[in-house]
Amino acid sequence: MIYTKEEFSKRLAELAGSSGLSELCASHEDKLYTICTQLDLKSKQFNLTAITEPEEVLKKHIIDCVFAAKTVKALSKGKGTLLDVGSGAGFPSLPIAAVLPEVSVTAMDATAKKTVYMNETAALAGIGNFNAVNARAEEAARGKMGEAFDIVSARAVARLNVLLELCVPFLKVGGYFVSMKGAAADEEMKEAAAATKKLGAVFVEKVQYSLPALCDERYLLVYKKVEKTPDIYPRNFSQISKKPL
Ligand code: SAH
Repeated sequence: MIYTKEEFSKRLAELAGSSGLSELCASHEDKLYTICTQLDLKSKQFNLTAITEPEEVLKKHIIDCVFAAKTVKALSKGKGTLLDVGSGAGFPSLPIAAVLPEVSVTAMDATAKKTVYMNETAALAGIGNFNAVNARAEEAARGKMGEAFDIVSARAVARLNVLLELCVPFLKVGGYFVSMKGAAADEEMKEAAAATKKLGAVFVEKVQYSLPALCDERYLLVYKKVEKTPDIYPRNFSQISKKPL
């Protein structure tokens, strides 16, 4: 089951309106709708997401990721390059690319079928500023993608101390990491204090938001890279996860 285009546009307008996201969504409804129809069509086949009910997809995937896009826009002035690590079925990367057409978005995932899915969806939706690559973050960060991005984002990939080591190495000095977290944000931030310092980053701000009619807490944790990450990072994945910084 999926909303018709008319139902989707009406509901998106209502939810974006009550969330202060109308301006960002305006004129991008078609792209956002295609992201949802594709997910509905392919999620079972590819085991892409546990969220399939249309209202839930709209809130927990689209609106949630447009909140991230709002912060990305403020940090990047709507331009530059963004890498989304562990993007899965394209979250937050596809909605960010849809609503910020001047940001060049790269989505990375370790699973090849997910990157194929994301590139097909972007092509169908007419999202031209998007490219998905099949790679493991800790390996790719050691190649030409290292220290190459203005913004790095991630949602639901790993605990913050592990995630920082996977993400900060991709940032240029002066770039920002935006981590989408839930109720455990404060606890994860404390646990990640040492990792932040070792990787050359500093904590900048915690943006609290909530999804319409859902009471779970959501946060965007913003970190800035202030120094080049030492060459020893990222380590291989077993070290990163067994001995987090
Ligand atoms: N960000 C998406 C998907 C979360 S699931 C969302 O919020 O819906 C986590 C994803 O991260 C999976 O698709 C998995 O393949 C990917 N992943 C986990 N570790 C990774 C790594 N080290 N490098 C690249 N991708 C990774």
